[in-house]
Amino acid sequence: MKRITKNTNLFLFVLMTFYVAISPIAEAAEDEIVVYTARKEHLVKPLFDAYTKKSGIKIKYITDKAAPLLARLQAEGKNSPADMLITVDAGNLWQAAQKGVLSPVKSEILEKNIPPQLRDPGGHWFGLSVRARTIVYATDRVKVSDLSTYEDLADPRWKGRLCLRTSKKVYNQSLVAMMIAQKGEKETEAIIKGWVDNLATAPFSNDNRTMKGIAAGQCDVGIVNTYYYGRLLKKEPAIKLALFWPNQNDRGVHVNISGAGVTSNASNRLQAIKLLEWLSGAEAQNIFASLNMEYPANPAIKVDASVAAWGEFKQDKLNVIKAGELQAKAVMLMDRAGYK
Ligand code: FE
Repeated sequence: MKRITKNTNLFLFVLMTFYVAISPIAEAAEDEIVVYTARKEHLVKPLFDAYTKKSGIKIKYITDKAAPLLARLQAEGKNSPADMLITVDAGNLWQAAQKGVLSPVKSEILEKNIPPQLRDPGGHWFGLSVRARTIVYATDRVKVSDLSTYEDLADPRWKGRLCLRTSKKVYNQSLVAMMIAQKGEKETEAIIKGWVDNLATAPFSNDNRTMKGIAAGQCDVGIVNTYYYGRLLKKEPAIKLALFWPNQNDRGVHVNISGAGVTSNASNRLQAIKLLEWLSGAEAQNIFASLNMEYPANPAIKVDASVAAWGEFKQDKLNVIKAGELQAKAVMLMDRAGYK
């Protein structure tokens, strides 16, 4: 009996020593999640605050552009404090998965909340909001009946009337990659060449410049992400620009996502998954989409009224993973086509 007690005491001593040694890390890991986010602070902080209030879990985050965050995760490797990566564009999320910084998650909640085409079939990343990359036009110079498809913007009757953003932007790489997936390389290249032939001026550095160019009469049509249009309209309600939903009789409008994944070296994987699941649910989806005038990724959630005002449209249902898988091909194709 005595001997057992002695052994038990020794065991407890070892256990206590071990606990004291690891407890500061264990405690920090249990009620704190570290997020690396390419989404700006004002788009994520309200969500994190709501989650902390509800769960008691603290969320530490750093914001930066997608590429530096990815490089940082790679450089940090096993020592990375990050549990979750939030970024925009399926092309970027796919890159992150390719570089091995995201780990697969199997979750019934996520699979129920997020449609299959808006998440990685392997579970490395999940779309949390949807943005359409669509046609914008000058309402005083273009009739709706003149517009039909992305491909049609390659027609010579648009010569000198088209404005585009640079091909260096991942949004355009994804748009072209998805077009390759649907139409093949040869046809896509002919379309992109047609776009380049129709350009009114050299490609712009951002979508806002594209819209300003159209409003100023430099060109008549362009291709932009919907939320940039929404922001501009809020600032300048009288601006003579409108969105058009192309390809409604075939594949639908090109959509992309902002999304997130759990990191490969997450020290708090379980809590990160719980946060990801919460982000796909009703409360978070409302905030997540409306803060940036996007569409909720969860189809059960209603679109914000100001966004709904742009009208309903058919979305391309091809899995956005193609934007990543065909990204390199898209970049080379745009280069061959002379799209700067
Ligand atoms: Fe953007």
